[in-house]
Amino acid sequence: MEGIQEVRDLLRISKNILITSHRNPDGDALGSSLALSLYLQEMGHNVKVAAPSEYPSTFTYLPQIKSFFIYDVHNEELDPFIDTCDVVFALDFNALDRIDRLGAKIASLKDAKIIMIDHHLDPEPFYDYGLSETTASSTAELVYEFIKQLEFRAPISMEVATCIMTGLITDTGSFKYNTRPETFTCAAAMQATGINVKEIQDLIFNSMKVKQMKLLAHALYKRMEILEEYRTALIVLNKYDYQNFDIQRGDTEGIVNYMLMMKDIELAAFITQQPQIVKISMRSKGDISVQEIARNHFRGGGHKNAAGGAQYGSLTKVIEKFKEVLPQYMEKREVQK
Ligand code: 5GP
Ligand code: MN
Repeated sequence: MEGIQEVRDLLRISKNILITSHRNPDGDALGSSLALSLYLQEMGHNVKVAAPSEYPSTFTYLPQIKSFFIYDVHNEELDPFIDTCDVVFALDFNALDRIDRLGAKIASLKDAKIIMIDHHLDPEPFYDYGLSETTASSTAELVYEFIKQLEFRAPISMEVATCIMTGLITDTGSFKYNTRPETFTCAAAMQATGINVKEIQDLIFNSMKVKQMKLLAHALYKRMEILEEYRTALIVLNKYDYQNFDIQRGDTEGIVNYMLMMKDIELAAFITQQPQIVKISMRSKGDISVQEIARNHFRGGGHKNAAGGAQYGSLTKVIEKFKEVLPQYMEKREVQK
């Protein structure tokens, strides 16, 4: 990290530190934030962790998650602390608009240093120090890298390792994609602390509620459309699906990935009609960049093979727009009948 010596100096004495992560925090956002928080507390800092909105119930096993602040709900309680912060960390996002009102609050701080640790494409220059590596599997992997660069030399605790392992597992789909040698080096170091990796895998993946399993079946059987000539699959969940299946935060996690299990499908899109917005989540194989589609048409971003965005307005408009722009990104192929 450029300026690491200054960061080490900054963290030499006890500080008030806020760690922030993105809206709808996922396993990597939560895992990397809590891991860094635990480590900084061991160094003697006073740390609070926040994201704009609620986290999925899957992650209630993470150490200290009960003290995670949800800014939409706890802003009045948190603001006086933020005003005293000397250091703000931005984890798993790279533009202040990803954290909504929390972004405006941080931008209003005059003296605080902002440190970004992230692995998404196209970072915006809102930070003082940044560890931005788009080839990293996860922000959790980069938090491990950052901890090493701090040279504080406190051993990694099992609690920190549980959080980092969660980020690694969720952002790589259990080490299936986005890996590089450093990912496995990090995973090895985490397992060496004595954590039970199988148990973490089970907590994340083998803990579905019955209604979630039924929703998955419904989505694949009743809501999936195959656009064969564009090697694309699309699932749309409307507001009635949300009512009928009582869909809560996190219940739709992972559905989009199933579509890429089909041999001839190279792009998968998952569109959901949520109370305020219509959200699009995309995955792709190989060279197809869903990040470009998200960025160019849905005010979003992410990674080349996993990206998302959102739009106000009608569900039909978003579906139409997706189908309209698709030919710009996917060459049309004749379908053998
Ligand atoms: P997911 O589809 O799982 O919600 O997100 C996939 C990736 O795209 C994640 O890395 C996530 O941070 C990014 N992403 C999802 N939604 C948005 C969005 O609305 N804006 C931006 N900039 N990135 C997003
Ligand atoms: Mn991530």
